[in-house]
Amino acid sequence: MSARRLLLLGPPGAGKGTQAKRLVDRYEIPQISTGDMLRAAKAAGTEIGKRAKSYMDAGKLVPDEIVIGVAEERLGQPDAAAGFILDGFPRTVAQAEALDDLLDRLGVKLERCVAIAVPEDELVTRLLKRAELEGRADDNEASIRVRMNEYHEKTAPLVDHYSGRGVLVEVAGVGSIDEIAKRIEDALN
Ligand code: ADP
Repeated sequence: MSARRLLLLGPPGAGKGTQAKRLVDRYEIPQISTGDMLRAAKAAGTEIGKRAKSYMDAGKLVPDEIVIGVAEERLGQPDAAAGFILDGFPRTVAQAEALDDLLDRLGVKLERCVAIAVPEDELVTRLLKRAELEGRADDNEASIRVRMNEYHEKTAPLVDHYSGRGVLVEVAGVGSIDEIAKRIEDALN
């Protein structure tokens, strides 16, 4: 497999983070999760964390200008030169366009966008279970509803964006973690 610049796309609870970690081990390229970076910024009380907090807690997307800055800085770090797995970025058409521009400037291309599909009732069940296990501030029913809505409204259109660029592969995100990992691996080959 030659694809080294990958993007995982899917609704909250689709398993992007879990599958990204598998790919990190397999291909030795970093996972770039804007959700993890924003949570770290929030916990550290940085200026970005303070600006992002109210959006995140409510389940709303953080404004593009904040997230794009965070992602661009991370993608410019040396360890991303050999490749990366984007997890949770881009999430809006404006973010996707900013990423296209950045990759153009760097002279590289996104090789695959893996869209992970999971039925909505299964997603809600998973997120409520994660709420019990991990106690993430935004895994409550009200926020989950908002996040699903944000996904359908703002992120789902990216399927067309990447399909139009000929890099989209769709994978069923149900079954065991191993089964899904295998489907992703097959899709990347
Ligand atoms: P999930 O996919 O389960 O919602 P994430 O960890 O990816 O979890 O994101 C958590 C929150 O961080 C989002 O609800 C949003 O507020 C913020 N966030 C993460 N990535 C982005 C992004 N690319 N654009 C806007 N907001 C983001």
